[in-house]
Amino acid sequence: MSGNLGSDDTVVETTPDEPDHDCVEITASKNAKVGNATVRRSLPQRTRRTVGPWCFEDHFGPTFVTETTGLDIGPHPHMGLHTVTWLVAGEVVHRDSLGTEQLIKPGQLNLMTAGEGVSHAEERTGSYRGEMHGVQLWVAQPEATRNGAAAFEHHAELPQVEVDRSVVTVLAGTFGDTTSTARQDHPMIGVDGQVRAGETVWPLNPAFEHGLIVLSGEVSIRGQHVTPGNFAYLGLDREQLELAATDDARVLLIGGEPFPEPIVMWWNYVGRSIEELGEANDQWLAGNGRFGDVASQLKPIPPPEFIWRR
Ligand code: MN
Repeated sequence: MSGNLGSDDTVVETTPDEPDHDCVEITASKNAKVGNATVRRSLPQRTRRTVGPWCFEDHFGPTFVTETTGLDIGPHPHMGLHTVTWLVAGEVVHRDSLGTEQLIKPGQLNLMTAGEGVSHAEERTGSYRGEMHGVQLWVAQPEATRNGAAAFEHHAELPQVEVDRSVVTVLAGTFGDTTSTARQDHPMIGVDGQVRAGETVWPLNPAFEHGLIVLSGEVSIRGQHVTPGNFAYLGLDREQLELAATDDARVLLIGGEPFPEPIVMWWNYVGRSIEELGEANDQWLAGNGRFGDVASQLKPIPPPEFIWRR
């Protein structure tokens, strides 16, 4: 699924958030429309724009899809960010302007780097029928790579490790002694945890700030309940995370070194100034080649009107 669609037509400007220390701050995710689906958007929020380099997080489903209904997100551009697609259930075909055509299934990771420009579409397979459930995230690229080349990585298998009463899949970064080979341009982590009833203690990197969403079930952190639709910000300087569950639960933990660069986000773009976003959008609309072409039967998604030029 693509975060793009539902993105607000407002501009989100950040100065680097002031990271808190070893806290549990729970906020409600915002409901947003992505195509026909309602998603729970936990980033960006008014009070928290980034967690490490992670700057966008949509949780979609579970919903039921068929061969002829479901995910159909037409071509749209990105710049200055990585898109991360992670499925709990379902199948999606990714197509992009690099010529990639890639089926993704649960347990696999799609990581697309936009750099100075890329476009992609996310389509139903035409054969899958069943539950669709997952997350779409964006990771801001640092100055060193954000104007660089676009790229795409598919990770068919990711490292897994058992910790206490959980099975942890490492999407990005290092968890304990286990490291994902997924690209990272700024130090970060992303892990999926299947947690069984009882107490689980995860090791964390205290130099990172972290945030957690619940994909299914419910967990407690220091007595505070976290359910789907909430976002738990966990701060910096935390050596470990104690997760308590009374039944099976599934969580997604993200984090990283606080992102030091102020960013500006609008629609599907992450940049450093309003002018830069407007220029990118003009070039997408002009079809001048910067964002390439996607071999998709779907119609491109029109951007909202850009009224922010100043
Ligand atoms: Mn997208």
